[in-house]
Amino acid sequence: MRKHIVAGNWKMNTTVPEGIALAKAVVEEGAQVPADVELIIATPYPHLYPVAEVVKGTRVALSAENCADKEKGAYTGEVSVSMLTSVGCQYTILGHSERRQYYGETDEKLVEKVKLALAAGLKVILCVGENLEEREAGKHFDVCAAQIKNVLYNFTAEDMKNVVVAYEPVWAIGTGKTATAEQAQEIHAFIRKTLADKFGAAVAEETSILYGGSCKPSNAKELFAQKDIDGGLIGGAALKAPDFIGIALSF
Ligand code: PEP
Repeated sequence: MRKHIVAGNWKMNTTVPEGIALAKAVVEEGAQVPADVELIIATPYPHLYPVAEVVKGTRVALSAENCADKEKGAYTGEVSVSMLTSVGCQYTILGHSERRQYYGETDEKLVEKVKLALAAGLKVILCVGENLEEREAGKHFDVCAAQIKNVLYNFTAEDMKNVVVAYEPVWAIGTGKTATAEQAQEIHAFIRKTLADKFGAAVAEETSILYGGSCKPSNAKELFAQKDIDGGLIGGAALKAPDFIGIALSF
């Protein structure tokens, strides 16, 4: 049985004290969530160390939102995978569309990042998804397949045990527009098939594929009821513990 996961991506929101308070609320309210749903919070870099103290020994896992594509050295402003593991991170999000769009994150760079993250013992949440123009041109399958192939096809079936895929249509992120459950299911099934083509059906069946894009307590139930949707990567709604936990209670 693949894992159900609800992961919060805080992006560049909250000060450190606000982040500590939010993490405490997620831990407290998260107690209601069935144990088979994994809760993850991805925080800005300065928050990781104090938030690691809050989530230590609880069911909430800690994630970064990115990592460097180099191991260490003269790369001013970057944060390495060993820094992340040293503060207690278990995951990192990689390839978020905001990083692809605003910071020139390419699939080539992502291969390096995924390699370093997995080698350091971090699990990876790899984001893929098309923009509005691509969706309207009917290219969403091709775009997602290319992102999966360009990045994940460089890895092994064994590596895939530590990879979660997040399908996040760019047109649905932070816009209030959600993909319909049917649209999301269709492409999740396609992503699983794309994974099966390379890694085999068993690995594809075991890989959690999350939906992201204006997911909230009011639409999570319908999305999570779909056969190939294993949870959510949550942006805006992750900034309020009751909403985040409300989503996690939607399985
Ligand atoms: C995200 O950025 O990963 C995301 C899904 O954002 P939102 O939920 O705000 O659309």
